[in-house]
Amino acid sequence: MNAEAGALGVLDLQGGVQEHLDHLQRIGVPARTVKRAAELDGLAGLIIPGGESTCLSRLLRIFELDQAIRRAVDGGLKLWGTCAGAILLAAENRGEAPALGLIDIAISRNAFGSQLDSFNRQVRVPMVAEEPIPVTFIRAPKIVRAGAGVRVLLELDDYIAAAEDDRILVTVFHPELTPSLAFHRYFARKCGVRSDGTEAASRDPGWTPQSWMRFSHHA
Ligand code: GLN
Repeated sequence: MNAEAGALGVLDLQGGVQEHLDHLQRIGVPARTVKRAAELDGLAGLIIPGGESTCLSRLLRIFELDQAIRRAVDGGLKLWGTCAGAILLAAENRGEAPALGLIDIAISRNAFGSQLDSFNRQVRVPMVAEEPIPVTFIRAPKIVRAGAGVRVLLELDDYIAAAEDDRILVTVFHPELTPSLAFHRYFARKCGVRSDGTEAASRDPGWTPQSWMRFSHHA
């Protein structure tokens, strides 16, 4: 491990990169963007953000990041995929070819309908935080199967919304688009990276709602 082993990366090909960087900064975790394979060196964890999974999967191949990420995971890199990121990580992408295929889940894209069917919701995820966590679903997928080695962190209605194995965390929603820092702290801990502050500070008073908060709230 080199001197930077306490840092996390955010894959910066397309999608919601800055919001993850901002949340990592809020919890005091050193973070940087990753556009090229060599930039994976020395990272403890990598976030694959939401965006458009077909576009992201093509860019991963073009920049040969798919093979590099697989190698890095074999070497100990932890991954967290949010929404499109989770689609890329799924071993089975219903009706389509898998991309990275690194966690034994089946996922179904756009399972809630169109972009207009996006919504906010409060969830309880005991493994991640004591308090209810606000989460944002944007044209989200549903995880429809979790393999034997996969822990389900959150099950809602007829689908799994968050799951993990020892190397990989997947969430079909976007904690980075809410004031809650709980999932970012959880992933930092999974990566063995220290974040500052206490759990009591997991809601950031400095955060201001942005346009995505227009989505309706589901109970
Ligand atoms: N609908 C997108 C896809 O299928 C995912 C949306 C998101 O990442 N918020 O790739």
